[in-house]
Amino acid sequence: MNTFTQFGLEQDVLQAISEMGFEEATPIQAKAIPVAIAGKDMIGQAQTGTGKTAAFGIPLISKIAASEDRIVALIMAPTRELAIQVAEEIEKLGRFKGLRSLAIYGGQDISRQIRSLKRKPQIIIGTPGRLLDHINRKTIRLDDVRTVILDEADEMLDMGFMEDIQSILKLVPDERQTLLFSATMPSNIQRLAQQFLRNPEHISVMSKVVSAPSIQQFYVEVQERMKFDGLCRLLDMEPPELAIIFGRTKRRVAELSEALMKRGYACDGLHGDLSQNQRDTVMRKFRDGSIDVLVATDVAARGLDVSGVTHVINFDLPQDPESYVHRIGRTGRAGKEGTSWSFVTARETDHLHFIEKVTRHRITKKILPTLSEAMEGKQKLMAERIMETVGSEEDLTAYRWVAMQLLEQYDSVQLLAAAMKLLTSDKKDVNVELTPEDPIRSKKRKFEGSRGGSGGGYGGSGGRRYGGSSGGGSGGYRQGQGRSDSRGGSSSSYGQRKPYNGSSSRNSGREEGNRGGRSERRDDSRSSSSRSNSENFVNI
Ligand code: ADP
Ligand code: MG
Repeated sequence: MNTFTQFGLEQDVLQAISEMGFEEATPIQAKAIPVAIAGKDMIGQAQTGTGKTAAFGIPLISKIAASEDRIVALIMAPTRELAIQVAEEIEKLGRFKGLRSLAIYGGQDISRQIRSLKRKPQIIIGTPGRLLDHINRKTIRLDDVRTVILDEADEMLDMGFMEDIQSILKLVPDERQTLLFSATMPSNIQRLAQQFLRNPEHISVMSKVVSAPSIQQFYVEVQERMKFDGLCRLLDMEPPELAIIFGRTKRRVAELSEALMKRGYACDGLHGDLSQNQRDTVMRKFRDGSIDVLVATDVAARGLDVSGVTHVINFDLPQDPESYVHRIGRTGRAGKEGTSWSFVTARETDHLHFIEKVTRHRITKKILPTLSEAMEGKQKLMAERIMETVGSEEDLTAYRWVAMQLLEQYDSVQLLAAAMKLLTSDKKDVNVELTPEDPIRSKKRKFEGSRGGSGGGYGGSGGRRYGGSSGGGSGGYRQGQGRSDSRGGSSSSYGQRKPYNGSSSRNSGREEGNRGGRSERRDDSRSSSSRSNSENFVNI
């Protein structure tokens, strides 16, 4: 067993790790921590959800003295959300040592960041664009930086940050350690590494999701115009604790989330057109369980770490097998079980087989639940909720009087049936219209992610280990978010579900401004590429 004591870490760091509920190092951590502690440059390749943050965070925290009052470490991440996520984890790891870290990202008031910089953080976690902004304003100096970490490097390059990253790296002294983490290793990443890393050690832990036994992967063949009803049936038959539904474009996500809200699901959408405030609100609602369905584009959801996602639904198939792997990796996190469903139109079956081939995983065909199966699922859920309320300590006095009156006049079965009908009724009359998406054309291109040491550490014994044996103690790696990992059907979880009203979006009023155009590029390119496909295909 890979315990954390083997790395010779100081007590403050070990204590932090243990308070975070980590008992055992993940495979990438077991490989990367010794290399990073030895001071070597490193390229680490592993899928999301494999614990990369701590893999570089633990050695980093170990290296920095609490008395340090200069910026000695720089971490770059592609998006604001990921920067915040990394900053939170670094903060936790460094807590007992008393280290200071700060997240720097676009969309937040820059003068506020400048004020925070006066606290003399030793570690900066930032998105490249905003970092450059500070560097140009001379509010951040890199002269003393001794460690640079590029997190989710492939994503950063995809978002067009290559030049920004190069400019920043040129300003960091050569006497430094550079660590690069990436889920895939396309050639532009290799070039970047060649330019800025010195004799890097390659560490790769591939195919977590590919071989993950903890995600059941299904697909259903469905006509484009039947997708929405099919989705509703799925959600009814197998009500998720938390589900992420992927749509191909921003428009798709907006339309789909609105349609689901209209039909009464506790749902919201996440895509690049939202203001930062709106994004924060949506993510908070999803994390605290006040909505249980999140509709998102790839870009908006990538890398986000939300525990307890039980279902991923590909409303539209993604173009890349990589995206497929990333999407379904939102569930089955930290060894938990997860289910993925993909909707495939007749013209897309080839593309699905291509994805199967590249990911080396069979995706099992299923048929959509029938209307009555869906109804049954819904009623079962409602019955459970009623029984829980009956069995709970909740005070029902205020309702008993009317209940007794009704029971004097009507048959009890008839009464309850009517109540169930009202509670579970579909808002079928609500008209829903989605703009059809073009089918994806099978593109038999090379899968870059499968290069370089696939079939690594996770193969047989990995995957399920962390968290598995730890019982209640370590529940909720992200306890700070106010929800533990174990929402599974326990008595409290229904109580947390909002009675369905999707649309109220309270703004937190915390931060101002939009995030820069950058992160939205990919959404745009997706939609334009599907537009150009339409020359070849007729909508169905
Ligand atoms: P990645 O960066 O590879 O996508 P993260 O660093 O975000 O993965 O980690 C995913 C989740 O797993 C986080 O909630 C993190 O706190 C948790 N985690 C990381 N390492 C461990 C570990 N050794 N044991 C248990 N949970 C872990
Ligand atoms: Mg990460």
